[in-house]
Amino acid sequence: MTLDAALAGRLRALARAPGPLLVASDLDGTLAPIVPRPEDARIPPATLAALERLAGVARVAIVTGRDLATARALAPVAGLEFVASHGHEASFEAAALPDPDPALPARLEALARTIEARFAGTALRIERKARSVAFHYRADPALAGPLREALAALPAGLRLQAGRLVLEALPAGAGKDVALAALVERFRPQAVLALGDDLTDVAMLEAARALESEGAQALALAVAGGAETPAEVVAAAGAVVEQGQVVELLAFLADELAGPPPP
Ligand SMILES: [Mg+2]
Repeated sequence: MTLDAALAGRLRALARAPGPLLVASDLDGTLAPIVPRPEDARIPPATLAALERLAGVARVAIVTGRDLATARALAPVAGLEFVASHGHEASFEAAALPDPDPALPARLEALARTIEARFAGTALRIERKARSVAFHYRADPALAGPLREALAALPAGLRLQAGRLVLEALPAGAGKDVALAALVERFRPQAVLALGDDLTDVAMLEAARALESEGAQALALAVAGGAETPAEVVAAAGAVVEQGQVVELLAFLADELAGPPPP
């Protein structure tokens, strides 16, 4: 086991809370390693197996910026819940989440086409999602400045979310803190573990720490991805794990919740 003793102790305490545990995990960079092209991202089979075991003994939710259909396809595990599109779509009835704006798809498509034309011939990759458009500059980090400039004045109702070598235009409102609140409201957990690796996860990690300071059993974990781990994510979290340790952490928690094997 490579989890350090302090972290293992905190996970054990979550597993022993007198009531249901909610595990709210980001997807890309947390469950799935970051890859050059977002469409190639996959959750490794061992991690899917650990999620499946954990979903049998805890409430497990994927909280992601991917849209709901894509998130479901990437995590085809029975019993999982999803809050997708940065808190704008959920797999369950969530009154806390904002209603979709019917004008949004046209507005996003117009923005995608404007940027596409402006950055034609560059390595910029444009990812069209159900409720947002992501502009990935992983293949050429020098595009960060010009891209930020081009996205400085967004159409009404949209906001910009920065991430690891990506800028994303999405509807204003919601966010992963609202996503976590919707999950807590829906499933009434007695203990909460939140995991995330990027700037969009900061609000969720802070919300988990707020639950902790209110006396709940909660742990906010930053998932580190080497040099590109944003300092804000580490600052928002109560502990840090490497992305490669997440599978072990999920399996450890599933084992703890399942209890000792029968004699
Ligand atoms: Mg992520």
